[in-house]
Amino acid sequence: MQDVLENLPEKAQEKHKENKAFFAKLKKKPPKQLDYIMQELHEEEFKRTDCLNCANCCKTTGPLFTDKDITRIAKHLKMKPQQFTEQFLRVDEDNDYVLQSVPCTFLGADNYCSIYEVRPKACREFPHTDRKKFQQISNLTLKNVAICPATYNIVEAMKNRIKL
Ligand code: SF4
Ligand code: SF4
Repeated sequence: MQDVLENLPEKAQEKHKENKAFFAKLKKKPPKQLDYIMQELHEEEFKRTDCLNCANCCKTTGPLFTDKDITRIAKHLKMKPQQFTEQFLRVDEDNDYVLQSVPCTFLGADNYCSIYEVRPKACREFPHTDRKKFQQISNLTLKNVAICPATYNIVEAMKNRIKL
């Protein structure tokens, strides 16, 4: 997996133009069964990919924390929400709460998340490849291709499966 992660930004760069053109077409004319196709491609990919061998999302980006996330996680850690925010989070340029630093503080050396049961919604949903109306998050997906090997593979599989 380490090799895959090291080569991923370069591989993603090589595909960027092609991927951008594909998503531009997808946005204009998404196939009727897109939600179904994405569900299938997502499930197939995550049968092969074990996130515990990777954790590149937790190591390199980190999620947004909503107010609900903060309340839930702070309670789990027996902290006051304000104390949690001050200790672990900062406000970014879009006015969202994000981690003060990456890799994520809650990621263990074994790639396990120490707050897995109460982790942020954004972590639960990453890399969003099974969400409905997938064509609406093209820009985010174009970025995720460079950090998430599963997303890279899913986008390659999409291009093979969906002829636009
Ligand atoms: S979601 Fe993607 S980047 Fe995150 S651990 Fe799984 S394969 Fe790796
Ligand atoms: S909270 Fe857990 S799942 Fe989310 S980035 Fe941190 S270690 Fe990863």
